[in-house]
Amino acid sequence: MLMAKLPIHTAASMTNALVDTIQLPNQPTGVELYLYRGDKEHPDAPGNKWHKLKHHLQRALWEGYTYIATFGGPYSNHIHAFASSCSKAGLMPLVVVRGETAPQLTPTLKDAVAAGAILFPSLRKDYRLGLNASVKAAIDQEYGRVYWVPEGGGGDLGVQGCRDWGYEIGQRTQALGCDAWAVAAGTGTTAIGLAQAQQVENLCIFSALQGASVQHQQIVEQVGQGKTCLSFWDDDWNGGFGKLSDSLRQFIEVFHELNPSVRLDPIYTGKALYKINALMGSGRWQYTRTLMIHTGGLQGWRGFNG
Ligand SMILES: *Cc1c(COP(=O)(O)O)cnc(C)c1O
Repeated sequence: MLMAKLPIHTAASMTNALVDTIQLPNQPTGVELYLYRGDKEHPDAPGNKWHKLKHHLQRALWEGYTYIATFGGPYSNHIHAFASSCSKAGLMPLVVVRGETAPQLTPTLKDAVAAGAILFPSLRKDYRLGLNASVKAAIDQEYGRVYWVPEGGGGDLGVQGCRDWGYEIGQRTQALGCDAWAVAAGTGTTAIGLAQAQQVENLCIFSALQGASVQHQQIVEQVGQGKTCLSFWDDDWNGGFGKLSDSLRQFIEVFHELNPSVRLDPIYTGKALYKINALMGSGRWQYTRTLMIHTGGLQGWRGFNG
């Protein structure tokens, strides 16, 4: 009978190509760590970025837009994912780049241009105004109907895509029986969506920002009531967003030696696992089976010389 040929689903065989077992230097025995390989999904927009953009792209196409626009820094993972995903979807990507009118294109921006994006430099002062920036008004004037995606791909549609992602991850990893998921946060959109999916008892959020108690509050409010318990850490040790301390760089190297098939990014996933490792070292990691969500971001290394 055909049935007899079906594989036996042990935890190991259920662990599909998108889940790896990983090791941290301070990991106590009996404590398991798994990595959901978001970095291996969607080659053009790995990690969380495609999920955050998905519903924005659908809406822009559905509503018949030709032009789609967003904001981002010169090394932004969001811009990188935005340019290629929009072009592939048949939309023309317009990108407002933060900073003084850069004399040189970064590798991230070169990729964006190669993917078909048109770049608009902006002054920081204007950029900060977001949807009220004068560069935004100028683009609307020139192109007419433009669909705007908020900086970082957030908003309700961004959350919705991450909620979908949470269901998918939940299904793919159910057999592991994890008691916690861990995820890095910038805007918090991804964390909110994953929490709303209600697939796990505990969600541990590691902010890449410093002094993020306001953000913690916002995340808690947006997630609302549910069975997933949230805990939150901010970057109180590494000097804040976009900083790469020597100890973090060292940790990322040691991690790679222990887990040769995995690379971490310097801004989000590297920091989150550094913190988990520190918590394990001081006996404060209270979960036995944790799934860390790899949110991608490896192209961001190009802003740190190697
Ligand atoms: C953008 C990004 C994040 C942050 O996602 P938010 O939804 O803004 O919190 C986390 N990890 C990586 C690698 C990213 O590129």
